[in-house]
Amino acid sequence: MKDGTLVIHEIYASIQGESTFAGLPCTFVRTTGCNLRCSWCDTPQAFHGGTRMPRSEVLARALALKTPLVELTGGEPLLQPAVLPLMRELCDAGRTVLVETSGEADVAGVDPRVHKIMDLKCPGSGEGHRNRWSNLEHIGPRDEIKFVLADRADYEWMRATIAERRLSERTPNLLASTVFGRLPPRDLVGWVLEDALPVRVQLQMHKYVWAPEATGV
Ligand code: SF4
Repeated sequence: MKDGTLVIHEIYASIQGESTFAGLPCTFVRTTGCNLRCSWCDTPQAFHGGTRMPRSEVLARALALKTPLVELTGGEPLLQPAVLPLMRELCDAGRTVLVETSGEADVAGVDPRVHKIMDLKCPGSGEGHRNRWSNLEHIGPRDEIKFVLADRADYEWMRATIAERRLSERTPNLLASTVFGRLPPRDLVGWVLEDALPVRVQLQMHKYVWAPEATGV
């Protein structure tokens, strides 16, 4: 793929549904394509298709939505080389930039001004063997590590990983989510309290806004 173009699934403004930025207005730049196939993936529509655009057009469209916060997401944004200069340009334009990444893609080249929100894939995803552990060397206090949990076994894996990899020493932002409709959040809350685990339990706020019928609200 050429450095000057990106394949884009969609660019739109909404509220940020997850992370420590949850609830804030945010522009989402969703790239096409992912090299993983998590069992519970909720954006399979971004695996294929998309529109190839010059980087300058993606930048202009993201800035035109005027939110202080911009997130690169996917699919997996870091599969496309042009994402790195695009994020630099968004930072240069004064935006707070987030990138949601799978934990498999190499984060070494990401501009240090960008907040990396990096998954560590639990066994229930079916992609746990793809975690690129060397990425942890590039995770600092402004970054966030996210676990998406499908069941109790995933929770226990997360608990062990936090301890063995001393993740709290890298960042205070350890996020624990449940697979929507599969693991009741109240179960996760109970386990976290029982273990006094230093994680932030999060719900996917955008689903309560845009798909309330699925949430029982
Ligand atoms: S890494 Fe993200 S986009 Fe890719 S399959 Fe997993 S959940 Fe879906």
